[in-house]
Amino acid sequence: MSKTLLIIKPDATERNLVGHVINRLERARFKIAEIRLVRLTEQQARQFYAVHEGKPFLESLVAFMTSGPVIPMMLEKDNAVEDLRTLIGATDPAKAACGTIRYEVGRTIEKNSVHASDSDENAAKEVAFFFDA
Ligand code: ATP
Ligand code: MG
Repeated sequence: MSKTLLIIKPDATERNLVGHVINRLERARFKIAEIRLVRLTEQQARQFYAVHEGKPFLESLVAFMTSGPVIPMMLEKDNAVEDLRTLIGATDPAKAACGTIRYEVGRTIEKNSVHASDSDENAAKEVAFFFDA
């Protein structure tokens, strides 16, 4: 089993889509190993998205990610990082493959409902950002 981090973003918690997203994850055989509900501070959002420093969308992204509660969770599955990226779909919901979570519930390239780690190395860092051990 490998690990990855998923975050349900504020546009999805706002629209009562938490149960829907968790259902999609469980149907795809991800196990929820850790889960929290948190309201990110501006500093925490900047730290989490430090890799995007200097990009034109960062300020808006930080404002969005601090606009409401988010639900980070550590997920376990064989090939977790790649399988979760496939399940959520492309960053822009308009370009996401049919049947992916972003295709289904994402609104815009920013308000795309979920985050998922993009490598095993980043998964370990992102899990440690939200959870002990
Ligand atoms: P995530 O990291 O959230 O899983 P991703 O890996 O598909 O998404 P990144 O390139 O890492 O995409 O961008 C991080 C987040 O920044 C995106 O999920 C989205 O919310 C926002 N974002 C990315 N590109 C844009 C853009 N061009 N305009 C507005 N927001 C963007
Ligand atoms: Mg990313």
